[in-house]
Amino acid sequence: MAWERFKKLLEEEKVRLEKELSQIARKNPENPEDWEVKAPEMNPMVSDQSELADMFEELETQAGLEYQLEERLKKVNAALKRIEDGSYGVCSVCSEKIDEKRLEANPLAKNCIEHTEQ
Ligand SMILES: [Zn+2]
Repeated sequence: MAWERFKKLLEEEKVRLEKELSQIARKNPENPEDWEVKAPEMNPMVSDQSELADMFEELETQAGLEYQLEERLKKVNAALKRIEDGSYGVCSVCSEKIDEKRLEANPLAKNCIEHTEQ
């Protein structure tokens, strides 16, 4: 089966995720798979407690979002790798073909319905 359609979907998602990530994080120069959250602009003149609290809250929110985006990007990259090495669309537990409708709903699926990780 040709996976071109899924490959295209995954590559589009990869571009979108990297774009979103690049707004709040930067690639770790020593490990391109890893992203680090950019610290918000720290204003050394800020001494107001509530402003500081806002800044930390923002950093926390960004860290959470960064984590989600990075995890998703890892899964997209793993799926693209499976297309490359020919293991895409096959359940990693029982080696049965994954239903194409299921892949359409979730191109990151790596298990059949029976072996879906909860
Ligand atoms: Zn299975």
